[in-house]
Amino acid sequence: MRRSKIIFDMDGVITGEECYWNAASLAVWELLFSPLYLGLEPAGELPRFKTALTPAEIASIRKTVFQEDKVIAFVKGHGVNSNWDLAFLTFGYQLVLLLKALAEKGLKGTAWSNEAGDAMDLEYLGALSRRALPGGWRPSFDAILSSWAGEARGAELARELASRLPGGYRKCGEQIFAYFSPLWEKVRDIFQEWYLGEEKYREFYCRKPSVPGKRGLIYDEKPLLPVEKITATLKKLLQEGWILGIATGRPLNELQPPLESMGIWELFDPDSIVTFDDVEKAEHSLKAKGKTICLGKPHPFPFLKAYWGRELGVEELISPAPRKPEPGRCWIVGDSPADLAAAREMGGCFIGVLSGHSGIAARPLFEKDGAAAVLPDLTFIPRYLSEVDGPTPKR
Ligand SMILES: [Mg+2]
Repeated sequence: MRRSKIIFDMDGVITGEECYWNAASLAVWELLFSPLYLGLEPAGELPRFKTALTPAEIASIRKTVFQEDKVIAFVKGHGVNSNWDLAFLTFGYQLVLLLKALAEKGLKGTAWSNEAGDAMDLEYLGALSRRALPGGWRPSFDAILSSWAGEARGAELARELASRLPGGYRKCGEQIFAYFSPLWEKVRDIFQEWYLGEEKYREFYCRKPSVPGKRGLIYDEKPLLPVEKITATLKKLLQEGWILGIATGRPLNELQPPLESMGIWELFDPDSIVTFDDVEKAEHSLKAKGKTICLGKPHPFPFLKAYWGRELGVEELISPAPRKPEPGRCWIVGDSPADLAAAREMGGCFIGVLSGHSGIAARPLFEKDGAAAVLPDLTFIPRYLSEVDGPTPKR
């Protein structure tokens, strides 16, 4: 049976994350400055809210919101893999600062939340802030870079954020700042509107976007390396007998089009491709049985499923001691600490590539945590694997 696989993470390895980071910054900017939400007055270089933006305006918004990408590095450094969570935490931090300012003016924490305490009316909160804080309130985008998060990693960051709310706000804050809360879903929806644009958003979600007229950053996606180099590398690995798989946080509808336009989609084994949709489906099936588990990386589920394909069911894949691949038969290629943690857990050999956001700064971390190799980018993989001792791929 064919069993020797190389499973690739996508963003930072084959595809770039630039468009996702732009979408995340625009979602934060919209929630802060659109009259539909907080409706704050933009200051400095930030433009007023609108849906048609020039590349220079998008770059300027990202530069301010993410503080020349220091915020991206900060959030990723705390083991957060999803760019939806990046937008959610960045906006959430500003919300905490605003609620603190309102608490100092004596406003109660129940003034702006619904009865269930899990959603907030941002437009109403914006109006309250204009009344309570004459002169207006301004976001401090660099404040998130302080040491508030301590050792918190991944999902713990949102809980840490809720704990920083002033006393009267904390109870509803825990629900509001939970992942998959109505606020989290709002942030994700706005992110998706910017990323997909109006037409694709309607097509994928079968609903209208909250604001019409967004063009879609997906059309600006570019591969991380010249396509010819990526193609030649993958074809070489196929010739040598490896099966190529994918484990990505992207949904299928955001993975297949860019890989098809690069002409490399067909090179991957369909049964070895795991996307956000598979993770979401497995999470739902477990939830129906009363188990709430986040199966995205750093959980090993995406890599295990890409390796075992349809052979193992969800229950087997999440068991405390899932079946391990034979030594040397499963290689994982990733650019982030979340990839390395998941690869180690599932028993795969990890190749860290330095083509992701952290660049060469990722090298010491990969080396410290037991990566089998650290390579500049994926084009170095065929040569590395040909030099490694161990089983050659068998069909
Ligand atoms: Mg990545």
